[in-house]
Amino acid sequence: MNKVFLCKETADGETRVALVPQHIKALCEMGYEVLVQSGAGDCISFSDDDYKTAGAKIADTLKDGYDFCDIIVRINKPDDIADIREGTLHVSSFDVWNEKAAIKEYADAGVNLVSLEMMPRTTLAQKMDIQSSQASLAGYYAVILAASKLPKIFPMMMTPSGTISPARVFIIGVGVAGLQAIATAKRLGARVEAFDTRPVVEEQVKSLGAKFVKIDLGEMGQTEQGYAKELTPEQVELQRKGQAKVCSHSDIVITTAKVFGRKAPLLLTKDMTAQMKPGSIIVDMAVKTGGNVEGCDPAGDVVLDNGVLLINGDSLERNIPKDASDMFSGNIFAFLEHFWNGESKTFKLDSTDEILAGCLITMDKKVIHPGFQNN
Ligand code: NAD
Repeated sequence: MNKVFLCKETADGETRVALVPQHIKALCEMGYEVLVQSGAGDCISFSDDDYKTAGAKIADTLKDGYDFCDIIVRINKPDDIADIREGTLHVSSFDVWNEKAAIKEYADAGVNLVSLEMMPRTTLAQKMDIQSSQASLAGYYAVILAASKLPKIFPMMMTPSGTISPARVFIIGVGVAGLQAIATAKRLGARVEAFDTRPVVEEQVKSLGAKFVKIDLGEMGQTEQGYAKELTPEQVELQRKGQAKVCSHSDIVITTAKVFGRKAPLLLTKDMTAQMKPGSIIVDMAVKTGGNVEGCDPAGDVVLDNGVLLINGDSLERNIPKDASDMFSGNIFAFLEHFWNGESKTFKLDSTDEILAGCLITMDKKVIHPGFQNN
């Protein structure tokens, strides 16, 4: 397996490409043969010639690419898999939790599926982790976006005409996106508060110069992979009460609270958003998995009755396509490099490897990932 095909993205709103010329050059030097669908890099102004210079060949159609390759690389799940040959390895983000029927379709077609969101949260796999690379950019962009819509500035300003108080920003959920949002808001001069249910986060919040909001929810914690544990309905209610006052005095609230493989907790109810000041901004970054904020709309932004702007913060990394593509491409390169066997000049598909055991969903016409076998 050494023939890689890079597809042009077709999903609505997609702005990224899964491999950039720099990484294709390195793959070709290693021994991979790379075919690129014509126009794949248009979204970030990489021409077919740029890819050719890097060592790739260009395919005019998707079918030509599928016929050529052993490994398909793209950002999103494709529209259909009819032309993909049995035994091909398909590598992309896949939204596996919402695509259980598609998983069966891949198994039946004999397409071996790697879902990059399932990459284990280990030191070894860190460089292949698209969740981290993309969430980090999204967290940055959430703050920039909110700042651009806020009718006031971020830093404190003392001028002869008066003193402007700093903007107050509250970040709920301090994983990868939340940490980057805190750092960005602090750099812009805001007063930042943050909360997360994982106790280990308090120190990280403080080290960025933000204030950790203390809410006693009783027993909390995290999974072995570092993900939050799901709260009980009573704990969610306690959290809502504990953070209501902070929301009401904040100019911007950014919510990133997710529970891996489950619906996101509803943390800001209509009663709570009604207490916020007109002109305040909320960015809900968990909207894809149900949303943290009551009234959030997967179709777009909403202005609430009291003039608060509720922004759909899904896939914000798409607003920064150049860096998002570079980082996604870096993750894919690391994955293809890690499993490259230099002697036999082939990608080694070993389902017992600890990284592949985490993210390989189907293989040899079977659903092999234990998390999806009973669907
Ligand atoms: P995520 O996107 O699943 O969740 C975002 C944040 O929401 C998490 O911090 C989570 O604790 C928090 N959350 C969940 N329920 C909440 C609630 N009710 N209220 C407030 N916050 C809530 O998480 P993530 O950003 O992907 O990161 C999860 C962890 O994985 C972090 O500890 C991160 O440092 C770790 N991580 C490790 C690696 C690695 O070792 N390779 C890579 C990336 C991330």
